[in-house]
Parts: sequence; structure tokens; C-alpha cells
Amino acid sequence: MGKEPHFPDGLVITVDGNSGSGKSSLAKKLAIKLNWSFLDSGAWYRALTWATLRAEADTKNEAEVLATLSEIEIHCDSHGKVFVDGEACIDCLRTPLIDQLVSEVADHVSVREALNKRMREMACTSKAEGLVADGRDAGTIIFPDAALKVFVRAGLSVRAERRFQQMQRSGIDITLPEVQQALAARDAHDALRGDAAPHPTVQSRILDNDNKSLEEAVGCLLTWALQLQN
Ligand code: C5P
Repeated sequence: MGKEPHFPDGLVITVDGNSGSGKSSLAKKLAIKLNWSFLDSGAWYRALTWATLRAEADTKNEAEVLATLSEIEIHCDSHGKVFVDGEACIDCLRTPLIDQLVSEVADHVSVREALNKRMREMACTSKAEGLVADGRDAGTIIFPDAALKVFVRAGLSVRAERRFQQMQRSGIDITLPEVQQALAARDAHDALRGDAAPHPTVQSRILDNDNKSLEEAVGCLLTWALQLQN
């Protein structure tokens, strides 16, 4: 990267997009390149879904999910790994069951507000120079004052193929059409969330990620990020 970049303290970059758009991989790589912290808001929703099931509570019941959240300690490390009650959530977050139920948890408005608050608190205590956060509404709702907001776009078939490869690597037994169907259903569900539905803001930079390699796409993000230097 040549000369060390210098950014003002406490900057936030948000990377939003639909499931499988590649936003998490991109945001994570960007955070590593900048030596900033990474926050994967989808992983927080997944961890809360997992904790709700662990508590034998109903993911459709707003009060039960909110009570679960109030009873757990949830945080992430600077690499975005989420911990519930001190235990790292590793293989339990990207299963078909969590895929299926996470949208129900994320539908509850009071749950979203409470989880957003926890994520913002986490960001405030982060010791890194800046934070890269990814999700659906990271730039619109969670961190509306982010210095750079990126929205990643990719077509459904490209996203399904990516998610399928990811699941195969994790040993999950599922077919490509099943993955595509699940993604389409989740897109449709996520789109009903009003302000929190994935959408670019007027300030967002749009990254078209249909035909880019990971390195090319990260290069693009890095160029935009380096423009924030003072
Ligand atoms: O990004 P990922 O696919 O892991 O997110 C899982 C789910 O969490 C999404 O389908 C969405 O319902 C929810 N989510 C959300 N808001 C965010 C991040 C994720 O509603 N900021």
C-alpha cells in the first residue's frame, strides 16, 4: 500500500447489499487492508437467532426474542467474529435452519433497535482507528453518519452460486436451486422492511459485483476509502 494512510479517528465505512452479494467478504478484506475493526451485522442477527433457539423461545414472538437479547452478552472481536455469553459462534450461524429463521428475528422492530444500539456501543469501544461495518442497513440506520457508504449489487444467480460454494465448503448438504430459492425468498422478505430494507442512500457508491474478482472489488473499495484520508 506504500505510505501508511492517515485517517481521522473513529471513521466508519459501511458496505451494504443483499444476501450473497459478497459484501461481507469485501468488508472483511477492506478492514484487514486498512487495519480497522470489522463488524458483520448479519452475524449478530444470526447469533441472536441461534441464542433464541437455544433458549427455546419463538423466533416469531417479538417479546421472547427481545427477552433473549436482554439476557445474553453479545459482542464481536475486531475481526467480526461474534460471541454469545463469551462463547465464539463459529459453525452454528450459517446453517439452513438459521438461514430460514433469521429474517423472522430481524423483522421485529424493537429487536432491531436494541441490537443496533448494542452494535453502536461496540463500535464506540473499538480501539482501532476505524470500523468497516456490513449488512443491509449499516449505512442507512446503524451508522447514518458513516464517512463512506457502499452498496454492493449482484444478480441472483451469481449470488446463489457464491452462497452455494460457501455452503459446500462448510459441508452443508444442499443443491444450487435450493440455495437460489432460499435467497430469493430472503430478498423478498428483506425488501418488506421499509427503511431497513437494503437500499443505497443518495451518498452511496455503488459497486457492481457481478463480474469482479474479490481482489478487483476490494481494490475498488480501497480506492474509495483512501480518498477519505486527510
Ligand atoms: O448478511 P446475512 O445474510 O448474514 O444476514 C442474515 C439476515 O439478517 C438477513 O437475511 C437479514 O434478514 C438480517 N439482517 C438485517 N439487517 C442487517 C443485517 C442482516 O435485517 N443489517
